[in-house]
Amino acid sequence: MSARYADVAVNAPVGPRRLFSYAVPDGMAVQPGQAVRVPFGPRTVQGIVFDLPDVPEVSKVRPIEAVIDPGPLLTPAQLQLARWVAEYYRASYFDAAALWAHLGFRQRARPVLTPSPTASPDMPADLTERGAAVLRLVRQRGRAGMSDVEESVGKRAAAAVVRVLLDRELVERRWEWERPSAGPRVARLVRLVVTPQQALEAAANLRALPVARLKKMKQLGFFSERQLNVESARDLRVNPGVRQAVILETLALGEDRQFLEDVCQSLGVGSDDVVALAQQGLIALETRRVVRDPLAGQSFVPRPAPPLTPAQAHAFGEVEQALEAAASTSPRGDRMPAAFLLHGVTGSGKTEVYLRALEKAVALGKKGIVLVPEIALTPQTVQRFAERFPNRVAVLHSALSPGEQYDEWWRIHDGAFDVVIGSRGAIFAPQPDLGLIVVDEEHEWTYKQHDATPHYHARDVALELARRTGAVLVMGSATPDVASYYRARRGEYRLLELPERVIVEEEADRPVVRLEPRLPQAEVVDLRDELRAGNRSMFSRTLAEGVRAALAAKEQVILFLNRRGASTFVQCRDCGFVLRCRRCDIALTYHTQGERMVCHQCNDRRPVPQLCPQCGGRRIRYLGAGTQKVAEEAASAFPGARLLRWDRDVTAGRRTHEVILRSFLAHEADILVGTQMIAKGLHIPLVTLVGVVCADIGLYTPDYRAGERTFQVLSQVAGRAGRGPRGGKVVFQTYSPQNYAIQAAARQDYVKFYEQEIASRRALGYPPYSRLALLRYAHTNNDVAREEAARLAQNIRRERDARGMVLDALGPAPGFPQRLRGRYRWQIVLRGADPAALLDAVPLPPGWDVDVDPAVLL
Ligand code: ADP
Ligand code: ZN
Repeated sequence: MSARYADVAVNAPVGPRRLFSYAVPDGMAVQPGQAVRVPFGPRTVQGIVFDLPDVPEVSKVRPIEAVIDPGPLLTPAQLQLARWVAEYYRASYFDAAALWAHLGFRQRARPVLTPSPTASPDMPADLTERGAAVLRLVRQRGRAGMSDVEESVGKRAAAAVVRVLLDRELVERRWEWERPSAGPRVARLVRLVVTPQQALEAAANLRALPVARLKKMKQLGFFSERQLNVESARDLRVNPGVRQAVILETLALGEDRQFLEDVCQSLGVGSDDVVALAQQGLIALETRRVVRDPLAGQSFVPRPAPPLTPAQAHAFGEVEQALEAAASTSPRGDRMPAAFLLHGVTGSGKTEVYLRALEKAVALGKKGIVLVPEIALTPQTVQRFAERFPNRVAVLHSALSPGEQYDEWWRIHDGAFDVVIGSRGAIFAPQPDLGLIVVDEEHEWTYKQHDATPHYHARDVALELARRTGAVLVMGSATPDVASYYRARRGEYRLLELPERVIVEEEADRPVVRLEPRLPQAEVVDLRDELRAGNRSMFSRTLAEGVRAALAAKEQVILFLNRRGASTFVQCRDCGFVLRCRRCDIALTYHTQGERMVCHQCNDRRPVPQLCPQCGGRRIRYLGAGTQKVAEEAASAFPGARLLRWDRDVTAGRRTHEVILRSFLAHEADILVGTQMIAKGLHIPLVTLVGVVCADIGLYTPDYRAGERTFQVLSQVAGRAGRGPRGGKVVFQTYSPQNYAIQAAARQDYVKFYEQEIASRRALGYPPYSRLALLRYAHTNNDVAREEAARLAQNIRRERDARGMVLDALGPAPGFPQRLRGRYRWQIVLRGADPAALLDAVPLPPGWDVDVDPAVLL
């Protein structure tokens, strides 16, 4: 029996987790996961069927209008997961389900006004001036959209004026779907349907039509035998016979099937001419679907897998067993998946393990998804996968054109690829027969979608996806997320270790593989000593000497500034003291406005001290220099050195990463000054020195994960050293040489870092010992935002106390940056075992955004 009712998620701002009931008309087949169109208020909206409840007769439900595609858009597993995303991240069901849809799926209907055919054509005398203006507009143009109406009478009045015209039946309103943002590309082709000889004869006849003109042109020297296509522009313009002849001659003498667009453009003819030829039965018009392929034009030479090192072989063996076990049982429903945390230092061959695991999955008849952070999705990464799986790799990321994303999605859907590699959104790729999911650099914060809803974390979605499909999950990192490592230690994930670096050296033209158990170490330089020794420059003596030596040896230097999400904090340059919040133990942030130090967690405020509270020194300063400042100082400290800057400001312009990188690789500069981006997997043989100008920057960002993030980025930088045959050196400059994150990063000792970090998380009650939810409100008026935040915080505390819940509500405090895109941001952080339970009890007022498990608290 077919279902009579459907619970549908609608594409409308209805708030989180709401479904609406509709009747299924007789004869319409709908399944869970199906995309439909449904009436919603006065409009029609897109919907996705979540449930087909078996309920008795319900009155007053409206019917579904239409199904969008015959089959369901989401598989049962995807639909279950969409439900989880919506519930866990407290987002709308439609927004969650639409994550699995192709680009171009989301569409909205817009109202269009047309003159009412039954109304008298006269202008009613009692209409207001504005009403008359809109009616005139609709009648003159035959149709008008709301934007036309708004343009005519202003945004404010538009809705009321239209209401009156509709009530008086002077205009009618229809809903029209806006154009999708992406769709299939269909190209039109013209094809010759007669022989080339016949075509040329027909062309000659066509040319002969205006005989007098033709004679004249011949006299003037047109149409030499070899120049059939060259016509005078004027003749082409005025004479359709000549235009048609040219088309025939082109097809007769060249390819007999060509794209219509190319023909029209290169010959300067119109589609009318083509249609005329088709009507004469000389050519035919055809359509063909064109696939926009992001890897088009690149060819990949298949490359065999190298033999694995013992550590790799062990790690791969474990994954292989899990893949075989998964293949031999049926999908396992809601069970803990086989999840591995592959902890391997940089260059230890993690990617090689992923590749082997993918090969195994494919051999078992399965497919894979590989997530890499957006920054790591370089042509080199894609190439490495494409060489192992020639023509079987799809790429999905936001830098592809909408058309490429659309086509890639459908080809994945149709099972064309063994491997999908992409950034966070690729976890929603419609890859069938999923057997393996790889999340590389699993600690990367770019896996969290923080700028749009749902605020999902791709790694956590991957875990849920693996759970529901029985796929095996491999998460890899040199510096795992502290929470992931914690879970691995507790046995929730299986921990695999690759402790040695794989070093490939060319010996007698043959690559020789060597294992290096000792990792390069960074030298920590205490900047407080520099000041005492009278060195006021940004560069310590150690770093400056190193730079000079490298320059003298014609080697290259990277000066690195850790600036991602960094705030301006105050630190004593004599003793290294940092001003912290007394209540929250996080660094206070300097605000120029009012010259204040502000806690971005609890909003505690203090004046900026003139003397250091610890040592009484006067050299208490703001830290937070930019790359430009570093580049300027480097230019004066190392005259003659060629400098190159690489940061977001520079790359936002015309000079892309690739251009800068290539130029530095070609040794067109001696010193590269840059931020995070240069820390990533770069291998530049001539670089023998990497200097971290101020390792403290980022450490005192008001966020419980500041230490973790600083450790991660500094370890990556330390990992740069000693890669080339010339060896190399890394220098960390700091005012806090004893800081555990800086120390552990310099020694590349993850476990040491982890143990200190997890102890402090436990002491302060931060994740993984609690959960967080970040509530944020933004408004153009700072007072309005602050008051709204204060009101909600009060409600939350009252509700919490009334229900006896154990939970901290921190704040409200200003966001960081406090003002973003013209709006002031205020936030509340909920911290406890179950913030969701409180959010169930206190529904958020409109305008509030909630980020569950926020990656950053800023
Ligand atoms: P990771 O992903 O851990 O940073 P990679 O997989 O990129 O490490 O390996 C680092 C380098 O070592 C790469 O150039 C890779 O080709 C090489 N490599 C890795 N494993 C092997 C192996 N078993 N035999 C030979 N070369 C290897
Ligand atoms: Zn505080």
